[in-house]
Amino acid sequence: MNTTTNFVLRGFLLIALVGCHSFANAQNPEPLETSLLEKAYEHFKESQLTERRFGYDKISPLIESRSDVFQQQVLGKSVEGRPLHALTYGSGPIPVLLWSQMHGDESTATMALFDLLNFLEGSEADDFAAIRKVLQENLTIRFIPMVNPDGAERFQRRNALHIDLNRDAIRQSSPEAIILKAARDDFEPAFGFNLHDQNAYYNASGTSNPATISVLAPAYNEAREVNEGREEAMKVIVGMNRVLQEEIPGNVGKYNDSFEPRAFGDNFQKWGTSTILIESGAYPNDPEKQYIRKLNFMIILNALYEIATGIYDNHEASAYQAIPDNASRLMDLLIKNVRSETNGYAYVTDIGIRRSVRYQNGARYEHGEVEDWGDLSIYYGYEELDAEGMTVAKGKVWGKEVALEEISKDEVMGLLREGYLAIKTPEENKGMVHDLPILILTGDQLPDLEPSLSNAPNFFLKNDNEFLYAVINGNLVDLQSPGNKSFKQRVQ
Ligand SMILES: [Zn+2]
Repeated sequence: MNTTTNFVLRGFLLIALVGCHSFANAQNPEPLETSLLEKAYEHFKESQLTERRFGYDKISPLIESRSDVFQQQVLGKSVEGRPLHALTYGSGPIPVLLWSQMHGDESTATMALFDLLNFLEGSEADDFAAIRKVLQENLTIRFIPMVNPDGAERFQRRNALHIDLNRDAIRQSSPEAIILKAARDDFEPAFGFNLHDQNAYYNASGTSNPATISVLAPAYNEAREVNEGREEAMKVIVGMNRVLQEEIPGNVGKYNDSFEPRAFGDNFQKWGTSTILIESGAYPNDPEKQYIRKLNFMIILNALYEIATGIYDNHEASAYQAIPDNASRLMDLLIKNVRSETNGYAYVTDIGIRRSVRYQNGARYEHGEVEDWGDLSIYYGYEELDAEGMTVAKGKVWGKEVALEEISKDEVMGLLREGYLAIKTPEENKGMVHDLPILILTGDQLPDLEPSLSNAPNFFLKNDNEFLYAVINGNLVDLQSPGNKSFKQRVQ
């Protein structure tokens, strides 16, 4: 699209929006109550989606079975031939495009989009019919769930060509990127929702609160200027943040707005679509991100309603600027003030540990790494231990080989209290996922168990007399009162 057409289109959309706004004034609509959004979620959540990891096969039947309130298109196919679908709802003058999971392992918003599709299919006689009517008459909403189905199949960021689709908006070497760009050019959305997940370690700057949701009105140039389109995106975000602050006060961050010339969000903004990025982060005790999915549903529905009614235009863009920045200061486990000794030199350190989720034949397990070592006083932990007076110590390997089914959790706890950190098992168990809180090893090549920045987080914390804690694959095990904490790891 050339600049003139872009200008004309923007002008047309502004007229449409102004028209809409006066409609809003005439009807004097109120912002949606958070409790109503919650109620809508509970009623319409898609029960077939319960875990973060799923592939195209899981969503295909959910697309096929849609009612005719949606107009359906197959936009094209991925590298491996999986379809990219568009579902369109409403017949209003404001086109809104929502696309999710261009990164295959970022599925939280995809789940929420299916919840929204269910919502839009609801009965004309229910409590939400008036909301649907406003959306239907004022918006034309197009959903593209799962832009990267090949990546989703492997639960990996990149597509089957190893291309990061969010760095392929300009070159378009991937069919999925070509399809998304063509969808934009064909539909010319006034508003766009670019839906992603971010890692668990972002916090709202200056606090220990995880950035459970991060938001951004992406920049459209290096200077990060704010034009009318970007400002409208900011105002929509302010409305979303009202809902979020009621649900998760303090757990919202503003994503960095450095211009990335290859990314879709930045280019959508540049191409004239008021673009809103939502990044789903982490929330304590929500490993499958089902609560964050609910938040996505609530804020997207709220945003659609505010765009349809013009309510968003009453917000001040300065309230967007006031949202705290994202920082990356979280650890899964932060051990503070522990004594360590290397080559006879004794010192005090903090140890920061992060854990990633991996899969072995579909079984989920965790893999820990020492992320940092030293003065980590600017960091926060989902779990923190002040280990003042304790010393970090190397564990021993139990000499006898045991079959997995022959050893109980109680016996493992007994070994840990004696300073054993690992046991050996026959080679055939290699790769098995287990939940015993001890390292289980096969073969003769033993891992280096010396506590250090470069080794896996497997060590003890002890005082002069006894072993108080074990750290196993980055998980803290209290040897005095073990409780029923459980985690999965792999036989190495
Ligand atoms: Zn992403």
